[in-house]
Amino acid sequence: MVKKMIVLGLDGMTFKLLDPLVEQGYLPNIAQLMNKGVTGVLRSTLPPNTAAAWTTFQLGVNPNRHGIFDFMRYRGNLESLNVVDSGDIKYKTFYETLNSKYKCVLINLPLSEPPKIKGTVMPSFISKTNAKIYPKSLEKKLDIKEFEVFIPHFKRVTNILNEAIKFLDKRKKEIDKVFDMDWDFYFELFSITDWVQHLYFPTILKNKKAIKIYQRVDEIIGEYMKKAGEDTTILIMSDHGFKKYKNIFYLNRWLKQEGYLQSKEKSLDDYRSDIKLLNFLSKHKFTKEVSKFLFKVLPLAPEVRLRAESKLSPGIDVENSRAFCPNGEVSGIFINDKRFTSLVKDTDRKKIISEITAKLKQLPYIKNITVNEPKDNVPDILLEVDDYKIYENISSRVTEELPINYHDRNGIFIACGPRIKNSAIRLENLNIADLAPTILHMFGFRLSNSDGRILKEIFK
Ligand SMILES: [Zn+2]
Repeated sequence: MVKKMIVLGLDGMTFKLLDPLVEQGYLPNIAQLMNKGVTGVLRSTLPPNTAAAWTTFQLGVNPNRHGIFDFMRYRGNLESLNVVDSGDIKYKTFYETLNSKYKCVLINLPLSEPPKIKGTVMPSFISKTNAKIYPKSLEKKLDIKEFEVFIPHFKRVTNILNEAIKFLDKRKKEIDKVFDMDWDFYFELFSITDWVQHLYFPTILKNKKAIKIYQRVDEIIGEYMKKAGEDTTILIMSDHGFKKYKNIFYLNRWLKQEGYLQSKEKSLDDYRSDIKLLNFLSKHKFTKEVSKFLFKVLPLAPEVRLRAESKLSPGIDVENSRAFCPNGEVSGIFINDKRFTSLVKDTDRKKIISEITAKLKQLPYIKNITVNEPKDNVPDILLEVDDYKIYENISSRVTEELPINYHDRNGIFIACGPRIKNSAIRLENLNIADLAPTILHMFGFRLSNSDGRILKEIFK
């Protein structure tokens, strides 16, 4: 059994970026872990969405079972959106099991708040509260003053890389106080890698300022390695990989063309609900900062044009649509059954699903189709699409050539520690759902009913 374990998340990290950065000597500490231990391509969830993947990490269960497909959750109708939190997790997390015997620390893990454990939790970037740390008594005890969950004060595009370094350093001061406490299991997620990649992915290796951010993260990892010592097992992982998509697939436009979806000009009520939604979003730290981020930092990026277009394009006429995609992030189609307005009767569900899937199979860019049982917040038809990023806009065409930096399913995994084997072969067939059973196994627990497996091939 392991004595101590550190799991560090590098959001959105891919070997396409990590390998050249290591080869060029920018990341000496990560290089050391890779040389001493094992590496592997870690397959992400479908869809490779941050909230979906980090939930699967915590549970060892795939999104079609846990029902988290995005940071937002639909309740009954498309207007009542909520930012997800730990209350939406219906399965037991691996750290709840660990915490029965071991001291756990979780920093910046999406959906870990309100905390389900007695250990130490620092909120994630989707926090809905102003809490800095749990249990709250630690705020005074450790003198935690400045703990930001998101980069504050985005002003200009040129500024963001400098701001990102300041953000990392400021957080580190507070996080170090937690790292220096007594713990057995320590988790910390670095979101900054994903944020930088959304902005600069194809050109990062030519951007010295952007590389600095990866170097800073590597330095922090180096400090952790030194402090924790050789007895500690270290896992480095990402929730998904990253790539440049060449095209957009407007799924709702396709549904409309095939006769399943009706669009409507937005009525005053829709704008009211938009305003209601904006008011709601602006109350939450995460969404507030994200909207600032989108509108101030990315004024020239295609994402912004698509977002703006989605606001201006006609809405989905839910009452008259048999199928729709509420949000491209979920990468799938919902059937308008009793979960929405009951336009499709239970007896017709199967027929309409097989009709739609048969038509989708004709599209050359559809790689895989999964059909799910009717469940709250779970798309009935889940799509894996090659080289096309799905958007919900009811655009004037079904596809468009437009480059977008976005997640893909091939993430990273690095493990190093007393029980971990030393191998230069890069492993394949690792899945993010395997992490929970593997971590629990290393601490002497078993996880039943998981979609993942124990990664036996990483051990000596
Ligand atoms: Zn992510």
